[in-house]
Amino acid sequence: MRATLVCVATVMKPSRLSPAAAVCALLCIAGCGAGRSSSVRVVDLPQPLQSAGSTGFKVTVATAQSPAPAPVPATAVAPLKPLSGRVITIDPGHNGGNFTHPEEIGRLVNDGNGEKECDTTGTAAPDGYREADFNWSVAERLRALLLAAGARVVMTRHSNTGVGPCITERAAIGNRAHSNAAISIHADGGPVNGSGFAILIPGQIPSRANRSIIAPSRDLALALRTSLERDGLHTSTYDGVDGLAVRTDLGGLNLSRVPKVFVEVANMQNAADEAPMERPAYREGVARALLAGLERFLPQR
Ligand SMILES: [Zn+2]
Repeated sequence: MRATLVCVATVMKPSRLSPAAAVCALLCIAGCGAGRSSSVRVVDLPQPLQSAGSTGFKVTVATAQSPAPAPVPATAVAPLKPLSGRVITIDPGHNGGNFTHPEEIGRLVNDGNGEKECDTTGTAAPDGYREADFNWSVAERLRALLLAAGARVVMTRHSNTGVGPCITERAAIGNRAHSNAAISIHADGGPVNGSGFAILIPGQIPSRANRSIIAPSRDLALALRTSLERDGLHTSTYDGVDGLAVRTDLGGLNLSRVPKVFVEVANMQNAADEAPMERPAYREGVARALLAGLERFLPQR
């Protein structure tokens, strides 16, 4: 933008600026504001504008200003989502194809604190409803919720008909993604009269290789416990203490280098626990509770 102020002064001698013209020029400069680039130009007024016996001058002050920034449309700024910029790894426990590939999943691998099977089939309810199916359903629902919340989601398996991967790879996937949190979804095959959820958290293994994730994994578990309880679930009557169980025998935890927990959502051998697990609305509720826990653990930056 360019502003021009004009002052006109009349003096008797055209050879120099009169005090009135000089004052006029100074006032013009001041009026245009300090700190701006200004220039002053003094010119003779055209003859018709001059009165008899006098000479007129026109003082022009031109002020250059920086162009005003263009207004930013309100729609150009996307609202920050709760988990924008966060990376979450979801590990749906077991796999639907594990049942037909016992040799492949049965081979031993180093779990970070000994040897263990590459993977297992998981449990199943008395009516045949499989843990792998439950885990997959909750995981898919959680994945959709996390994406809507702005997170980047990494899955350790991409279908419920494959085999594995091994527990070593499940941990490695979360590590390679530099996940802010990793959550392994399971259901338990506990005693018939036991019920409730348990969150398995990493304990210190002899190599201390996982020491950096022990404290944040516990924080993650506490956040998830709060959300699951608010969803109406109760802590386990038979596993852990107040819903938390420290484990050093799970490769998925021993080998993780990012905060990670296993959630045993319920006991598939207990009728009261298991019946709702086969209802989609229940699994959706569990997924929403897990989302809420992750948002509590990873507050918006
Ligand atoms: Zn399991």
